[in-house]
Amino acid sequence: MSIASSRTTFTTPQRKTFSMCQHQPPCPSADSTDREAAQLVAHHPEQGWSLLCNGVLLFEDTGELLPDGQVIAPHRPVDPPRVTAAA
Ligand SMILES: [Zn+2]
Repeated sequence: MSIASSRTTFTTPQRKTFSMCQHQPPCPSADSTDREAAQLVAHHPEQGWSLLCNGVLLFEDTGELLPDGQVIAPHRPVDPPRVTAAA
């Protein structure tokens, strides 16, 4: 039995260009460090992802998939941070 646990198995509509932002102020581009501030254009909590105006797919674990296929690892802890007093 194969395990299809990859987050690449979800299906999305064909995404062409996302340079058509009509928001004011304009959304940050996908290569901006501010990319998560873009407006949501699709939200699929049941699948655990959201599509931002700049074409970035934002996963509920804070991972991201950029329009050029680049994957950004989750950068915010899902679990409460466990403070280890090591000393
Ligand atoms: Zn926009």
